[in-house]
Amino acid sequence: MNLAEYKDVYVFAEQRDGKIQNVALELLGEARELADANNEKVVAILLGKGIANQAPVLIAHGADKVVVVDDPHLEVYLTEPYTEAITQIIKEMKPSILLLGATTIGRDLGPRVSARNITGLTADATKLEISDDEAHEFRMTRPAFGGNLMATILCKDNRPQMSTVRPGVMQKLPADNTRKGEVVDYKVAFDDAKINRVKIIKTVKEEKTVADIAEAKILVSGGRGVGNKEGFDKLAAIAKELGGEVSSSRAMVDAGVMEQSRQVGQTGKTVRPQLYMACGISGAIQHLAGMEESEYIIAINKDKFAPIFSVADLGIVGDLHKIVPMLTERLKSMQR
Ligand SMILES: Cc1cc2nc3c(=O)[nH]c(=O)nc-3n(C[C@H](O)[C@H](O)[C@H](O)COP(=O)(O)OP(=O)(O)OC[C@H]3O[C@@H](n4cnc5c(N)ncnc54)[C@H](O)[C@@H]3O)c2cc1C
Repeated sequence: MNLAEYKDVYVFAEQRDGKIQNVALELLGEARELADANNEKVVAILLGKGIANQAPVLIAHGADKVVVVDDPHLEVYLTEPYTEAITQIIKEMKPSILLLGATTIGRDLGPRVSARNITGLTADATKLEISDDEAHEFRMTRPAFGGNLMATILCKDNRPQMSTVRPGVMQKLPADNTRKGEVVDYKVAFDDAKINRVKIIKTVKEEKTVADIAEAKILVSGGRGVGNKEGFDKLAAIAKELGGEVSSSRAMVDAGVMEQSRQVGQTGKTVRPQLYMACGISGAIQHLAGMEESEYIIAINKDKFAPIFSVADLGIVGDLHKIVPMLTERLKSMQR
């Protein structure tokens, strides 16, 4: 493999029902930084049927070029045709880096593409960078050993260098609709004998009953200190006043008090709200991994030495069961 032939930072632009997913835009923001550090281009790969009209969205968020494969085989996500399409693009265009969202689709597709192309894949990276020495190495960092240590992984001898990143970890660029980019209509030669082994018979959509905490701008999060369901009612009351959602540490999910879809952290969701209010949460490293990039963090804890205070912008030492209702009342009276 002649590594010098491989260049540019590629992003798999995940779309569902023709709508680009937020994680793809976040990855473009990150790809922009990586590409600029190497004087390279950001290229988005957009697969689907009737999706070419989404290319300008990708350009507005940082792509220099969008490779569109518009094909009926790609209408609904299936491992084989998607792997085949990306593999043909890799073989012809030789990307240096390929990023995917660590979504259900990205987690299925990433390993298959990396195996097909005989290269490595770093799953759930939390930091990506180009080293500022002469080597300009691509460094992918992720938590290891239960989050107690951060491992930096290099893919020195194979290309593309691949990584998945969870939604909410990277930051998207504001849309700039004046940006110009190239759109390439790419044709993939599908071998039906290979891709017809799995067929979608029916798509059943799960009804969205709970809000997605990763999308919330304000989160009021509770930990073991909240205690029980009644404790969380107090958090729900203040969340309602603030127009936010309630989330949780793993301790309360494990205790069966909160549903897993609301768990923040390494084995839950990564969130980056404008305001994260941590109530009765100690601030274990696995929890911090999911929320420390929040814009403003308020921590309420009765232990002044709780590690959560090390990431908080504002810390309140005291009993949350008294402080939260008082804050809720104050917010209500301010709105009267
Ligand atoms: C592999 C692995 C993955 C993990 N993934 C996650 C994850 O995704 N998310 C996650 O959250 N954890 C995760 N954990 C668990 C993590 O290590 C901690 O055990 C967990 O975060 C602790 O939750 P907590 O802060 O709610 O509880 P505790 O650590 O018990 O802290 C409770 C806090 O509440 C305070 N408190 C008690 N009463 C009050 C009161 N009345 N008023 C104010 N403060 C009060 C206490 O001072 C204390 O600081 C993981 C662990 C492992 C090993």
